[in-house]
Amino acid sequence: MTPKEVLAYAKENGAQMVDFRFLDFPGIWQHFTVPISEFDESSFEDGYGFDGSSIRGWAPINASDMLVVPDPTTAVMDPFFKVPTLTVICNIVDPVTKEKYSRDPRHIAQKAEEYLKFTGIGDTAYIGPEAEFFIFDDIRYDSSAHFGYYFVDSVEGIWNTGREENPNLGYKPRHKEGYFPVPPTDSQQDLRTEMVLMMQKVGIAVECQHHEVATAGQAEIDMRFAPLVKMGDQLMWFKYIIKNVARNHGKTVTFMPKPIYGDNGSGMHTHLSIWKDGQPLFAGDKYAGLSDTALYAVGGILKHAAALCAITNPTTNSYKRLVPGYEAPVNLAYSSRNRSASIRIPMYSASPKAKRIEVRFPDPSCNGYLAFSALLMAALDGIENRIDPGEPLDKDIYSLSPEELADVPSTPGSLEEALKALEADHEFLLKGDVFTQDVIETWIEYKRSREVDPVRLRPHPYEFMLYYDI
Ligand code: GLU
Ligand code: MG
Ligand code: MG
Repeated sequence: MTPKEVLAYAKENGAQMVDFRFLDFPGIWQHFTVPISEFDESSFEDGYGFDGSSIRGWAPINASDMLVVPDPTTAVMDPFFKVPTLTVICNIVDPVTKEKYSRDPRHIAQKAEEYLKFTGIGDTAYIGPEAEFFIFDDIRYDSSAHFGYYFVDSVEGIWNTGREENPNLGYKPRHKEGYFPVPPTDSQQDLRTEMVLMMQKVGIAVECQHHEVATAGQAEIDMRFAPLVKMGDQLMWFKYIIKNVARNHGKTVTFMPKPIYGDNGSGMHTHLSIWKDGQPLFAGDKYAGLSDTALYAVGGILKHAAALCAITNPTTNSYKRLVPGYEAPVNLAYSSRNRSASIRIPMYSASPKAKRIEVRFPDPSCNGYLAFSALLMAALDGIENRIDPGEPLDKDIYSLSPEELADVPSTPGSLEEALKALEADHEFLLKGDVFTQDVIETWIEYKRSREVDPVRLRPHPYEFMLYYDI
């Protein structure tokens, strides 16, 4: 929509308020609202001022005045607010220089798309994320953890069904058998469907929804692929809708990758393909119907995987998912058949247009704009430098002997390990000024000081179980 069309659309829908959305550095949507009388065509030029210093990971206090400038192509009526409200996603702009803010994740994604065009390799990167999540009945606060919410069952290592009912009428999913019996075992069908309908309402094309493998109410909703920035926007809507629909039904959702010890975690397998002039570049006559370009992209992603994990798997909790036995990848290899490989080549369709790679290590705790951009930059690095991905690994990686596995590198074992890898390997992200040095340094510093150290230094509830009586 153009600014004029946005104003007409708002009027048509009786909007009384306009809600502006943007995200902080880790990836949570922020917002503020103005009456519709404060909104006209000039809003798209002049933007609205706010104090950027209180946003996590953003400007220091001495340079905190910032503007949000609404992007008219993103305007849509919010499906939740009681008062009709137009919602617009915004870019962050420096009020003095009028330049877009270098730490705004959406701007980083815009630059990644520009860089793709600049290389001449392609003009569009299509992204399809499969973000999994858990729907719980409630969440408990455990005082021994000091400022933490815990699922008691997660602490004890006992699986729960995510469903408390009185009396207990049975039909609980068996351990790791959530995928996917019909109701009454699946108790969340209507909830997921309501989420899907809400997504369609804001213009997101959804392909499928289903229960996932974990016992405790794990779900998956798959959006149809879209260009990178658009998918970044859609992933924000996706999480917002899922959390709010659950909340409206007295449920709570988490996208943390491993909320339950001993059960499957939540991944965000990310499908990627690059196109030029309406033609897919990943289809060819090499392994699994891939082109050389696609194989080099695989080479780039595998080469930079450890560093990528600091962005695609950016929480301390992420590394509790990346362990053997739960359908999450551990080894950095590729395969057309093998779901235990970090990159899988889906073979569902023979159509060249469907040819893509599925990167399986990302998880839904990531900031989508940053994760998709980083994956694209690694793929482009592979293509530009013709990085050989090596031989595919078509055996079940979980069944290989330690000797056979010796040559296959693994995903990092902790966030700190991933951050060290990013520290050592980020030139590929700096190309085209997509991620700046400041962004990389701020990210690493933020993650260490706000997440790695506070988690490492805090007595864990399980330590009380192990050591209290020592
Ligand atoms: N939950 C698995 C993961 O952590 C993925 C299951 C699937 O194959 O969809 O990656
Ligand atoms: Mg899944
Ligand atoms: Mg998948």
